[in-house]
Parts: sequence; C-alpha cells; structure tokens
Amino acid sequence: MTYVITELCTREGDCVEVCPVDCIVPGPKDDPQWPLFYIDPDVCIDCGACVPVCPPEAIFPEFEVPEDQQHTTQLNADYFISGPGYYEFDLEEQRRPR
Ligand code: SF4
Ligand code: SF4
Repeated sequence: MTYVITELCTREGDCVEVCPVDCIVPGPKDDPQWPLFYIDPDVCIDCGACVPVCPPEAIFPEFEVPEDQQHTTQLNADYFISGPGYYEFDLEEQRRPR
C-alpha cells in the first residue's frame, strides 16, 4: 500500500516536514508537467502522518482515493519512474507563495 497525493494539493509543503522516510518530493516549481507534490510508493511506510497536516486534505490511502482522483495513484508512481524523481530541493522555495 501507499499514500497518494491527489490534485487537491496546493503545494503547502507541510507533508514533507512530517514524513519520517522523506519520500515526499515537490514537483519542481519551474516544471509545469509536475504541479503537485508526490509520494514515492516504493518508500512510503503507510504511517499516515502526512494526512492530518495537509490543509486541503489532498492525501489519501491508496484504497481510499476518491473516484475522480484515481489516476493520481499512477501519477505519483510515474513521478519517480519517468519524471524528475528525487532531487535536492529547498522546501521554502518549492512551497506555493504564502
Ligand atoms: S501538505 Fe497537502 S497541499 Fe501541502 S504539499 Fe503536501 S499534499 Fe500538497
Ligand atoms: S504515509 Fe507516512 S511514509 Fe507515507 S508519505 Fe505519508 S508521512 Fe510519508
């Protein structure tokens, strides 16, 4: 299982701060193809810590992703398979402007 970030994500970045295994990565802000933050399904340990800190409630367990967001499960995986994946980022730079 994994947790999934859906298109409700508004790039608050709070999830990154609480993930114990650092498996949440912001799509690079200058890359419009990857506008969300993404969870690496191979590393996520299903702890659920990211769920309550997400202001727009954008994160769901894999099997509870809403019907209209089901495509985002694959999107999160693809970000790490064929997308930018991990990189060294400054969270303050990657958060949406506050
Ligand atoms: S806390 Fe929620 S809105 Fe913020 S980056 Fe994480 S998933 Fe996106
Ligand atoms: S469920 Fe836990 S391990 Fe998985 S992304 Fe959220 S905080 Fe990280």
